[in-house]
Amino acid sequence: PDALAAMLGKWAPPSASAPGTAKKVYSADELRAALKESELINYYQPKVAVASGEVVGVETLVRWRHPRDGIVFPDQFIGVAEASGLIDDLTQTVFTAAMTQAKAWQEARLPLRIAVNVSMDNLASIDFLNFVAEAAAKEGIAPQNVVLEVTESRLMQDTRAPLEILTRLRLKRFRLSIDDFGTGHSSLAQLRDIPFDELKIDQGFVHRASTDETLRAIYDASLSLARQLNMEVVAEGVQDQEDWELLRRTGCDLAQGAFVSRPLLPEDVPGWIELWRERVRTQLFPREDAK
Ligand code: C2E
Ligand code: MG
Ligand code: MG
Ligand code: MG
Repeated sequence: PDALAAMLGKWAPPSASAPGTAKKVYSADELRAALKESELINYYQPKVAVASGEVVGVETLVRWRHPRDGIVFPDQFIGVAEASGLIDDLTQTVFTAAMTQAKAWQEARLPLRIAVNVSMDNLASIDFLNFVAEAAAKEGIAPQNVVLEVTESRLMQDTRAPLEILTRLRLKRFRLSIDDFGTGHSSLAQLRDIPFDELKIDQGFVHRASTDETLRAIYDASLSLARQLNMEVVAEGVQDQEDWELLRRTGCDLAQGAFVSRPLLPEDVPGWIELWRERVRTQLFPREDAK
């Protein structure tokens, strides 16, 4: 009923398809054509500070605006991109557009940290490092404001080259984030060896963790590990007020999820920020407001 809900619509889980409906699998040729025709577009999902409500950044989430099938979600084509060698092209397309957008927001006095998802396959060659550094510099985006998210489950498959490239990116002061934490099997020693700045607790261990003991144990352990390794902690998939209160009580740094905002088109971000600030003042931190 409130303006925010009206603007954002109802959250539809990205990979929701009607029961019994098989998801279409796209071919490498179709994806190659889509890249050529610029059919891939970036959405941006906000990350907010739990203690203050401040909007600290956004995560870039790619979608394919398919001429016949409508909006196609990344789980239907990232795998194809990785298997066919198109992933470098895809990541560069997404990253370049994200930097252009970050510059536009910077010029509009919205200095948002911008996160981009990076595939392990992108970290096979030093060319990626040079690409990232040049694309950010070209738009005047400081590396400190660029976050590279790498999924935990793939992190430890093959370590050498990716580890070196991640370390070099860190030396250039790009921020590194370990995504979907809890779904992989990284050892403490491996985590110590890669200088991550941020740890994102997978959404599977966030929603309902306040009432489910098992989820809560994994959530707590992840939070505590991140603290001890000096990483900023993001809870993914924060869906409702109860999830939000858990983050508040346990001192989680950042929140992302439907409770805050679903992924947005870039033109909707400034309007969302206004509404979110209003919601922070009137609903989420009302007492502080009354002081
Ligand atoms: P991720 O990086 O872990 O991103 C979070 C996913 O969870 C996104 O799905 C987001 O829309 C969804 N999500 C966020 N909050 C909620 C919530 O409260 N409830 C529910 N049900 N879902 C929520 P999306 O956009 O479909 O992306 C799925 C995955 O695809 C991403 O997971 C990421 O691993 C990958 N991906 C997305 N964009 C890119 C990209 O540009 N490059 C690469 N290599 N991978 C990408
Ligand atoms: Mg991510
Ligand atoms: Mg994730
Ligand atoms: Mg994920």
